[in-house]
Amino acid sequence: METASQRVKIDPMRRKPRDMNIENIMKQLVFWLVHAACFLALWTGVSWIAAIVCFLMYFIRMFAITAGYHRYFSHRTFKTSRVFQFILGFLGASSAQKGPIWWASHHRHHHQHSDTEEDVHPPRIYGVWWAHLGWVLSTQFISTRTELIKDLLKYPELRWLDRNHVVAPVALAVALYFFGSFLGANYPSLSTSGMQMLVWGFFISTTLLYHGTFTINSLAHLIGRKRFETGDDSRNSFVLALITLGEGWHNNHHRYPGSEKQGFYWWEIDISHYILKVLSWMGIVWDLRTPPKRIYEEAETSKAA
Ligand SMILES: [Zn+2]
Ligand SMILES: [Zn+2]
Repeated sequence: METASQRVKIDPMRRKPRDMNIENIMKQLVFWLVHAACFLALWTGVSWIAAIVCFLMYFIRMFAITAGYHRYFSHRTFKTSRVFQFILGFLGASSAQKGPIWWASHHRHHHQHSDTEEDVHPPRIYGVWWAHLGWVLSTQFISTRTELIKDLLKYPELRWLDRNHVVAPVALAVALYFFGSFLGANYPSLSTSGMQMLVWGFFISTTLLYHGTFTINSLAHLIGRKRFETGDDSRNSFVLALITLGEGWHNNHHRYPGSEKQGFYWWEIDISHYILKVLSWMGIVWDLRTPPKRIYEEAETSKAA
């Protein structure tokens, strides 16, 4: 077990390690309650419709995190309309991982200080538990690093979303409950209910989504192959890329964060990129940025080495 004195040492921000105000207590309580609520499935059972909704809620919200929070808000690797920008932000916020401005500010900081003591979640330095979950639950990173996200602060609707990020997950949970109740009442052959839909569509998919996302901070800096000499611990992993719709090509991403696609070759499966490509054909997003030729040349020489 980690003691309080050890925690002081791994405080990357050199801030007070214990700051248990109401916001922190609520954050930790809600996080573990979402996990605990998954066990309600033992009581509600499962139906094929609830399992499909669970998968869809994971898939759609993982896309919103990877394409929205990460590739758009954090790295601005493509352009879109103000309306779709908000939709990406709202869907991302429904993952219960706070708002897009907060998320992007900490992520930009991660790229500035990857795998150094300044980095918030370097697994080699502060351990895999800290990188995966410890930093999320710690009391240190409540505030937004506003100096890093001035480009996002000019949108009042994004500032509102960041301040009121709980609105999105609560709205989704309520909508899923009513959706399940509606199906249960009108289509009894589906064998579902409001509670069952809430458990599978929200609690279980949100828990899977937490840990799927967090693997990029923990495992993607530990396991897999390094194509590029990036000076950090980022790795490329096929399995992590499947779980996270393309984020597993993390060494590629650390080498060239300005690219919308993170799978640099056709065999590097990057589902978020495929979806963004389709959305670009529909005119919903545009100016998808790709890695320049010199990055591919570097990849060839480093592979040969
Ligand atoms: Zn990283
Ligand atoms: Zn990034």
